[in-house]
Amino acid sequence: MTETFQGSFTQQEPIPDEGIEAAMRVLQSGRLHRYNVGPDEQGETALLEQEFAAQMGAKYCLAVASGGYALATSLRALGVKPGDKVLTNAFTLAPVPGAIASVGAIPVFVGVTENLVIDLEDLRAKAAQADVLMLSHMRGHLCDMDLLMEICDATGLKVVEDCAHTMGAKWKETLSGRHGAMACYSTQTYKHANSGEGGLLVSDDDELMAKAIMLSGSYMLYERHLARPPMEVFENVKYETPNISGRMDHLRAAILRPQLRDLDQQVARWNERYRVIEDGLRDTPGLTVVERPEQETYVGSSIQFLLLDWDADKIDDVLQRCAARGVELKWFGGAEPVAFTSRYDSWRYAPSEAMPETDRVLAGVIDMRIPLTFSVEDCAFIASIIRAEVSAVWQEG
Ligand SMILES: *Cc1c(COP(=O)(O)O)cnc(C)c1O
Repeated sequence: MTETFQGSFTQQEPIPDEGIEAAMRVLQSGRLHRYNVGPDEQGETALLEQEFAAQMGAKYCLAVASGGYALATSLRALGVKPGDKVLTNAFTLAPVPGAIASVGAIPVFVGVTENLVIDLEDLRAKAAQADVLMLSHMRGHLCDMDLLMEICDATGLKVVEDCAHTMGAKWKETLSGRHGAMACYSTQTYKHANSGEGGLLVSDDDELMAKAIMLSGSYMLYERHLARPPMEVFENVKYETPNISGRMDHLRAAILRPQLRDLDQQVARWNERYRVIEDGLRDTPGLTVVERPEQETYVGSSIQFLLLDWDADKIDDVLQRCAARGVELKWFGGAEPVAFTSRYDSWRYAPSEAMPETDRVLAGVIDMRIPLTFSVEDCAFIASIIRAEVSAVWQEG
């Protein structure tokens, strides 16, 4: 009899006790709105911003309602206007082109390589079409960030980094999010810190951050921010910048602060699990492991592998056999968008040219979440199931 994995791929860890206690204090105070603070009180949200800026080595930080909101706010702060083109990854999730569309701009998709990073040759070829690249570090894969920045600097492309899957990751010694003009993080339940919904935005740029703070709905209360540009910078932007409410509240900030303090430890736990799965999948016939460059310090909160050039019905077969044994795999190559997987050509509001190389890669990308509620033994078991089922279908030919 074949064994079945019993764990839940959507079960996250509980909020740490310290976060629950802090949340209770916020609830008891009745002061949940970020600007509703007592005399001499700084408030959880402003403290979160101050701590996250320090943690990332950024001058400024703004906490907002979601990662997608942070992305759209970055585009607005950069002055992207309706009808402008914005470059972004063909391999990403729907909120990324969605953020571009939300400001009336037009996503132009850049291809993906077999290493699941943005195709820098395709980027070079398309660079002249836009002023901004919204770079999605999709599923935590970092491209050669030095070369990317060289291309962007040479062609005048400003970079907004989507770090929804790279909070805590690094390229060489530089934290993900510290290469571009602005970087956006999500604290939604399935990312690297969990406040249900939430987003963080960092930047070193005075004017961009002053605009972002005004945009987020600070009214004229921005003085209360602890990770903001000097007051005089706001003088230039406060009459010109619309209020597009999307603030974070104290409750979410309270549960995030202790989680972010533990980020490095969580990263180590994810990576221990990731490596066990990766080792278990290595040398499976027909399956390509996505090799990670040595310059990259990744966060293995999910794992991807490729079934390159497989027939769609064989891939379906693998997915179904794994599902029957309790292992939930997602496929980015499916013709119809399912759950969170969708493809650049399913975003029909943003018509794209055909990208055969990208289509070949996407047709073979299999994706799996690694929740920290799984033990290392669970991860070894999961890998053995995938290995057995992929091998079985492969041998059928
Ligand atoms: C989750 C996610 C976002 C958006 O974050 P939300 O907080 O859900 O709005 C953006 N980009 C990627 C790649 C994501 O996975």
